[in-house]
Amino acid sequence: MNANQSFRKLLSPVTLSFRDKKIESDYIYYYSRKIITHVRIAIIISLGLYIVFAFLDSFLFPDFKVVFHQIRFFIITPIILLIFLFTFHSSFFKYIQVITSLSIIVGAAGIIAMLYIGGEEVSALYYVGLMLVLLFNYEFLKLRFLTASIVGALILIGYFIVGLQINLSLSILVASLFFLVGANVLGMASLYSYEFLSRQYYFSNFQLEKEKAKTIEINLNLEAQVLDRTSNLEEMNKELYEAKIIAEDSERMKSVFLATMSHELRTPLNAIIGFSDIINSGENSEAENIAFAEIINRSGQHLLSLVDSLFDITLIESGQVKLKIGEYRMLELMSNVNSIMLQERTKLGKENIELKLDNVNIEADFKIITDGNKIKQALINLLKNALKFTESGEVKFWYEEVVEQNKPYLKFFVQDTGIGIPSEKIDLIFDVFTQVDDTNSRKYGGVGIGLAVVQKIVNMLDGEVGVDSIVGKGSTFYFTVGNYIKEDMDFSVANTVNFIPASATLDAEVLVVEDDEASYYLLELLLEKRGVKVSWAKNGEIALEMLEEHKKFDLILMDLNMPVLNGYDASKQIKELYPDQIIIAQTAYAVTGDKEKALASGCDAYITKPISAQKLNSLITEFI
Ligand code: ADP
Repeated sequence: MNANQSFRKLLSPVTLSFRDKKIESDYIYYYSRKIITHVRIAIIISLGLYIVFAFLDSFLFPDFKVVFHQIRFFIITPIILLIFLFTFHSSFFKYIQVITSLSIIVGAAGIIAMLYIGGEEVSALYYVGLMLVLLFNYEFLKLRFLTASIVGALILIGYFIVGLQINLSLSILVASLFFLVGANVLGMASLYSYEFLSRQYYFSNFQLEKEKAKTIEINLNLEAQVLDRTSNLEEMNKELYEAKIIAEDSERMKSVFLATMSHELRTPLNAIIGFSDIINSGENSEAENIAFAEIINRSGQHLLSLVDSLFDITLIESGQVKLKIGEYRMLELMSNVNSIMLQERTKLGKENIELKLDNVNIEADFKIITDGNKIKQALINLLKNALKFTESGEVKFWYEEVVEQNKPYLKFFVQDTGIGIPSEKIDLIFDVFTQVDDTNSRKYGGVGIGLAVVQKIVNMLDGEVGVDSIVGKGSTFYFTVGNYIKEDMDFSVANTVNFIPASATLDAEVLVVEDDEASYYLLELLLEKRGVKVSWAKNGEIALEMLEEHKKFDLILMDLNMPVLNGYDASKQIKELYPDQIIIAQTAYAVTGDKEKALASGCDAYITKPISAQKLNSLITEFI
C-alpha cells in the first residue's frame, strides 16, 4: 500500500478527521499552532471592518444609526475583543474551533439583528454583509471544514428565520438565499479541498518523520555497532600489542636468562676445572694445594646454591612445596638465621659490614606454630641479598608483631645501607629471573630467583612482601606472616641441643652402592677418615651379590639411579632378604616424592648429594 492509499484509508471523507485518534489529536495540535496568528489577524480585520461599516449606517440609514451603533459598539465589538484576548490564553488551543466560530456567529448575529430591526429596506443591502462573514468563515479564518460548514448553515438558518419574520418579499428572500447558499457551497468546497490537502501534507510529513525516525534509529544502531566493533578492534589491537610486548619481553628475558645462567654456571665451573687441573699437575706446594682446594670448594658451594634456588623456584611453582607446620622458638629461629648469616658474611668476604639482629628481647621470647623453616628461608634470602648489594655500613634484621585489619601478623624486616633500588624497578624485582641490572656489565652475581622465592613462600604463609628503598642509601625489605599461632613460652623446660663430636673414630663397615666413581671416592675418603671400612658395589645387583657373601654391613649407602638394578629395587630386595640391614638412600635429585619412594622401598633414611662431611657424620652417629 502506498502512502496515498493509506492516507485515504485513514481519513473519514465526510468529517475529514483521521480515524486514528492519536494522529487526529496530533494533527489538530499541529494545525492549531499553525493558524493561531492567522486567526488573530482575521479577528482584528473583521472587527475593523465592523467598525468601518458604522459609517454606512450613518450614511444609508440615519434612522437606525443609534441602535445600529449600539449593536456594533456595545455588543459585537466587546464580545469579539474578548474573544481576541482569549486567543492569548493557554487553554485557547483546546477550544480554538468553538471560540473562533463563536466570533463569526457573533458577527453574523449582529448583522442579522440589524436586518431584523431595519426590515426589508435594510436587508436588501445588508445581507451582502453576511456574504463577507461567510467569506471570513470559509476563506480567511481557516476553520476546519466541519466547523465552518456548521457555522455557515447556522447563518443561513438565522437569515432565513429573520427574513420570514420581517416579511421580506419572496423575490428578495429567494434571491438573497440563492446567493448565500451559493457562497456557502463554494466556501465549503474550497475549505474541503484546503483541509484535505493540509491533512495530506501533514500525513506525508508524518510518514516522512516516521521514516526519518526509523532511519535515525538505524543510523544510531549502525553507529553503535560501528563504535562497538571499533572498540572491539581497538581492544583486540591492544591485546595483540600487549601480547607482542610480552612475547618480545619474554624473548628478551629468555636471552638474558640464558646469558646470566651461562655466566653463573661457567664462572664457578671455570674455577673448579682450572684449579683441579693445577692441583693435578703436582707442581704445587701443599699450602698452595690447600688454597686451591678451598677455591674449588667455594665454587662448588656457589654452584650448589644456584642449583638449590633453581630447585626452590621450580618446586614452588609446580606446587610441590607444602607447608610443614611445627613449633618454633622465636628467639632460636632468629639467632639461627643470625649464625647462618655470620658464616655467609665470611664466605662473601664482607666482614666489614655489621650484621645486627635487632630488638630481640630474651624475656619476651615466645613459641610460634608455623612453618619456621620457610620463614628462615625467606629471611636468609633477603639477608644474602642485603649483604650482596651492600659495600659498607650495616645489615639489620628484626621482627615486630603487628595487627592489620584486625588480624595479627608477624612482620620481619631486613634493612641494609646498600645500593638501593630505583623506584621504577621495584615492581619488577619480585618476578622470577628479573634483576635491576641485567646488562653485560653488571657487577653483582645472581640469576634473579631469590626474591621470587621469598614472595612465593610468604604468600604460602598468608603474608605479603614489600620494600622501601632509596638509591644510594639502602633498602628495607619486609614480609608478613599471617599463618601462625603464638604460644607463651614455658621457660621451665630447658631446650638442650645434643651435640655429638664428629671426630671420634668408628669401628664399622659400610657398603657404598654407587655407579659414579667420583661420588664413591668422596664417600670413601670421608668414611675412611672416621676409621670406617668401605666396600663398593657399582650397582644394585653387585650389592646383592656382596651381601650374599658378606651377609651384613653396618650401613649401606644406596644411590637410587643406577644401571642394571636401581636403588629402589635393590633396597626392596635387600630388605626382603635381610630385614635388619640399615639402608640410607642417597640421590642427586632433591625432588619431592623421591624421599617417599625411597622410604617406601624400605630405606631407613634419605640423604641428598652433595654429601658434606658434616651431613655424613651426623648420619653415621645416628645409625652406627
Ligand atoms: P639475584 O639477587 O639473584 O639477582 P633476587 O631475586 O634475589 O635475584 O633479586 C632480584 C634483583 O633485585 C637483584 O638482582 C637486585 O637488582 C635487586 N635487589 C634485591 N635485593 C636488593 C637489595 N637489598 N639492595 C639492592 N637491590 C636489591
